[in-house]
Amino acid sequence: MSQTIKCPSCKADLPANTTICEWCNFVINQEGANSIENISSDLEGIIRSMKEIENPTILSSFNKNAKVSMPLFTIASFLLAYKVNGWFAVLGIIFLVYSIISIFKKAAKPTANLKPLKAAFDEKVRSFQNLYGVNNKYKAQIQQYQNDWKIIENEAIKGKIFEWISYGVLISIFTIAYVIPEPKTNTEINNELSNSETEIMLKVDSLINVNKIDFAKNELLNIKSTQNNIEVKSKIQLKELEQALKSIEKKIESADFISSKNELNKISWIKNSAEYDSEQFEIKYYKQYILLKNAVNEKLPEGSKIKVEDEFDF
Ligand SMILES: [Zn+2]
Repeated sequence: MSQTIKCPSCKADLPANTTICEWCNFVINQEGANSIENISSDLEGIIRSMKEIENPTILSSFNKNAKVSMPLFTIASFLLAYKVNGWFAVLGIIFLVYSIISIFKKAAKPTANLKPLKAAFDEKVRSFQNLYGVNNKYKAQIQQYQNDWKIIENEAIKGKIFEWISYGVLISIFTIAYVIPEPKTNTEINNELSNSETEIMLKVDSLINVNKIDFAKNELLNIKSTQNNIEVKSKIQLKELEQALKSIEKKIESADFISSKNELNKISWIKNSAEYDSEQFEIKYYKQYILLKNAVNEKLPEGSKIKVEDEFDF
């Protein structure tokens, strides 16, 4: 025969481990780990340890991974400042300050792992239920714990979703900042512009070839690129000088040396490029002009020759 106890309420003889009197429903609190106080405080402790995850937001997620997210936001902002608009640098400085602060800030307590806590919670609830669950008061108390747990689980799911969203936002912004093309340099812009005028340039060439110089000059109105503008002006000038030189050549052939020499002396190249950078587009035409002028000068007899400029006179 096992040990028995007496019900404190109705004095009935009950087995030693009885928690609810089968005759009068009196609750007989156990000692130690199985006492109502201990089980309750264990359950409340588990619930309390999860309270911190309540009400997660995207911002709190960013705050949580600030040591990673803030430096990445800083880099992304400065990339955007360089590539898109300088004002992004202001954002970059703010994120940089945050990054530095987050280095010294104590790391946010990592959210406790739900799984082992859930197992501990379920086990405590089960034993609470088995020991005292018949009693309506404790039944309601257990129900309250389970409701609290449900809320925690939902918040945990929400927190996980927000965490992934925050990573998504972070990766998206960083990717965008990374793949946005670098701003074009002036050289690139000029090259694109001059390439877009290829057709006009071909037209100008053929107009000059058939001696329609005035039509070629009209095309200058359609040319926006500095390089092409200088090239066309130089081509036209070369053509005009070539014609002038040809007529001098004819005079030489008819032995009119004095006026040939005078006219040859008057012929000169007028510079089209205003800046040092654009001289490179003009110099090849200038060199051709010198070659032509020298050829005509060669035809003059000794004593009538002039001093022709060289390419360093440009
Ligand atoms: Zn009893």
